[in-house]
Amino acid sequence: MTIKRSVIDSILSYAKMAHPNESVLLLHGKLSKKTILIDEVVIPPLATHGQDFSEFPLSMLPSSLSMIGVAHSHPNGVLEPSIQDLNHFYGRVMVITAYPYESETDLALFDGKGNPVRYEII
Ligand SMILES: [Zn+2]
Repeated sequence: MTIKRSVIDSILSYAKMAHPNESVLLLHGKLSKKTILIDEVVIPPLATHGQDFSEFPLSMLPSSLSMIGVAHSHPNGVLEPSIQDLNHFYGRVMVITAYPYESETDLALFDGKGNPVRYEII
């Protein structure tokens, strides 16, 4: 799993902007046999700032091969997926960023079981 630095920065600044509400961003990128590269974030077409991730209509998203997963923020500062998050898992990976959204230490990737995913920033 590889993430572009610009994607990390976008997730952090978008989360700051939405705080104290949750923010949701779609992760786009490239899948290969060996790895996944996340190289773009997209504001969801139906998004409004402050929409709860758990209420976000993932089923209404256009399905796309380039859609790797979803990033959302935790204004409460907890850097772990909730049960609801795991029930709403979409794609290959879930990115969570927790308040104060200052750097990549306030951000983590998880698989569909809630296990942390190691990644590299390029
Ligand atoms: Zn969450």
